Amino acid sequence: MAFAGSSKAGQPFRPKKRLGQNFLVDPTISDKIISLAGFSADDTVLEIGPGKGALTLPLARRVKHVVAVEMDVQLVEWLGGSLKKAGLGNVTLLHGDILKLDWQMLRKHFQGRIPVIGNLPYNISSPVLEKMCQSPQWMGQAVLMFQKEVAQRLTATPGTKAYGALTLLVQYHARVLSLLKVLKGSFFPVPKVDSMVVSVDFEKPWPQRAVHEAFFKKVVKGAFAHRRKTILNSLKGAMPDQTRESLLTALAACDIASGKRAEALEMGDFLRLSSALSIDNATANNYSPDA
Ligand code: SAM
Repeated sequence: MAFAGSSKAGQPFRPKKRLGQNFLVDPTISDKIISLAGFSADDTVLEIGPGKGALTLPLARRVKHVVAVEMDVQLVEWLGGSLKKAGLGNVTLLHGDILKLDWQMLRKHFQGRIPVIGNLPYNISSPVLEKMCQSPQWMGQAVLMFQKEVAQRLTATPGTKAYGALTLLVQYHARVLSLLKVLKGSFFPVPKVDSMVVSVDFEKPWPQRAVHEAFFKKVVKGAFAHRRKTILNSLKGAMPDQTRESLLTALAACDIASGKRAEALEMGDFLRLSSALSIDNATANNYSPDA
């Protein structure tokens, strides 16, 4: 189905599924999201995937400058026209893939940390978060809309089905809070599931730091690689260089029963466990930051 209106070239605009194009069409929701984000009049904000400008226009009226990165060239043209019509000259539109953009290049537009907003295309939600978590020191508060299931994973607590590696890796770098549920009827085309706006605040990371971050991430990913296995067996599978005895010793030192499953462990358990295992520095140093 074509979206109301047409692009600059006069072609009807058809939302592209492969780019996760479900546009927000309820202006009251846009206004609510902008208010909840709480950006100030002095802020320059990065918007990921501005689309037809449902968030861009109200945001541009509120903050000093918006830098918006959109992958669909047809929408870049469209939005450029809408901004001109609205008399908004404080938006820099960049055509590109946010996953390929270099933060260093983007940073020149910002004074300090980068505040972010975005109604994320469902297919790149996790890669965008991973990209942010690779440079947490440059990121400010990110106010992001996710499909409900992804939001539940981000905000999950131990012992729940949604709790997993993504929960821990993001919560290690940022404080995560649910801000607003958005029903699927607020979008066009209507997606299959509802969405949730979440604040991922990189200025408020988990208070304790890992001794060796890359190793901590390896332990977390390894622990959740097979959710049904015990923590001992999961780690044994993920770290063939560790002996069963060294794993049992580390688990005992951290007061973690070897028969527990990863989903029962809290952030503090993983931090202590990775620290106990990385006492052998040679082991920890085998893990690259990207591991
Ligand atoms: N912000 C608009 C709204 O709320 O109506 C559009 C949201 S739509 C869910 C996602 C937008 O991200 C689309 O405009 C799509 O073209 C764009 N997009 C998809 N993949 C992208 C990528 N890798 N980099 C930048 N933008 C992307």
